[in-house]
Amino acid sequence: MNLLPTLFALMALLCGKSNAAVKPNIVIIYSDDLGYGDLGCYGSPVIRTPHLDRMAAEGLRFTDFYSGAEVCTPSRAALLTGRYALRSGMASPRRVLFPESKGGLPPAEVTLAESLITAGYATAHIGKWHLGIHEGSRPQDQGFDETFGLPYSNDMDARADLPKDAVGSPNPPADGWNVPLLHNGKIIEQPAGQSTLTRRYTEHAVNFIRAKKDAPFFLYFAHTFPHVPMFASPAFKGKSRAGIYGDAVEELDWSVGEVLAALRTQNLAENTLVVFSSDNGPWLTMGNQGGSAGLLKDGKGSTWEGGMRVPGIAWMPGKIAPGVTTQMASVLDLYPTALALAGASPPKDTPLDGTDLRPLLFEQKSLPERPFFYYRGKQIFACRLGEWKAHFQTQGGFGSPKAEAHEPPLLFHLGLDPSEKRSVTADHPEVLARIQKAVETHMATVNAVPQQLD
Ligand code: MG
Repeated sequence: MNLLPTLFALMALLCGKSNAAVKPNIVIIYSDDLGYGDLGCYGSPVIRTPHLDRMAAEGLRFTDFYSGAEVCTPSRAALLTGRYALRSGMASPRRVLFPESKGGLPPAEVTLAESLITAGYATAHIGKWHLGIHEGSRPQDQGFDETFGLPYSNDMDARADLPKDAVGSPNPPADGWNVPLLHNGKIIEQPAGQSTLTRRYTEHAVNFIRAKKDAPFFLYFAHTFPHVPMFASPAFKGKSRAGIYGDAVEELDWSVGEVLAALRTQNLAENTLVVFSSDNGPWLTMGNQGGSAGLLKDGKGSTWEGGMRVPGIAWMPGKIAPGVTTQMASVLDLYPTALALAGASPPKDTPLDGTDLRPLLFEQKSLPERPFFYYRGKQIFACRLGEWKAHFQTQGGFGSPKAEAHEPPLLFHLGLDPSEKRSVTADHPEVLARIQKAVETHMATVNAVPQQLD
């Protein structure tokens, strides 16, 4: 009889290490309105991001990674539910939640935090929430043991006498927005001192990692920046070549460095999956405070590539081989991936829209071909399948004229034409038919639910 397994189990117990302790930690760092072209490792010539560049060099950098939606609220709903936002009622022509909105992420939604809690994880939300301020929708109601940050965007609750253009100013007034800073549901500062937010978020994140080093944990770190109005702490202000926008991104990069350093110091790096991404593309109409989508077309609010294709980096040294992948993936994939790593069961009777990324992350295998849907509000404006993308409707970002319908749809090959300049619809009717079929199949799984944003 082999007694070794029993012996190991006994030793693990004596050392205080249960099975739960070896489950991988999950850290998602989500920036706000960061563009595809805003990091050094994605080609920015003007913003210095040495920590993210190192993370990318040590990990897997995605060339084709997508946010779940074209604006904040539905994108965050998609990330935390693993489903397109219209399934939870978190997508609408009104686009995002406002301070006066009555709705929020429904309590019945099983967030990633709630799923991981059942698998023994400690959970924390740090940064922007934007999924509801009413009971049932707040971070502490949606599976997070701890929460520190803003309930919504930093440009909301504007002072009544604030000039319209203050939000996009290179030097916005510190008291222009009355957004509160909350700690575990209590307002601790109002208006939130925005210039030190990134630093304070980071301190909380590092403290959480230190405190939970023996438990598996899930940290959802959703930065406030680089969303306008743009602020940076004195250590970063005026230091970048790209104005205050570049300063804010360079401070965010510093923050990522601090989080990864804390993981290394606690010997957790090899057992922690860290994913960095952005909730949508750059807010181009904010001019110099708006960032860049690089070679991609348009930005935030739009379903052109620049609105939804964002930086995506996965890091787990020793487990994820360094490299660059052109495989398509999205934040929708993080839910099933995290659950598989945690050994947690998916929520009952709830279709997830993503795919488990483990074969790609850990074995460099190709993922099966699957469609990706570009929603604008409740409508599918475009769909990608393989290298092909069809647009049924197009519209620019915020403030642009109304949508233009395309019949037949526009069709682009994203390998040959990543900037979506030359539609080739007439040459590929069979591709269009496959994409239209994928949209029909998807729509057949979508049920009507109460709308939360109207
Ligand atoms: Mg955003």
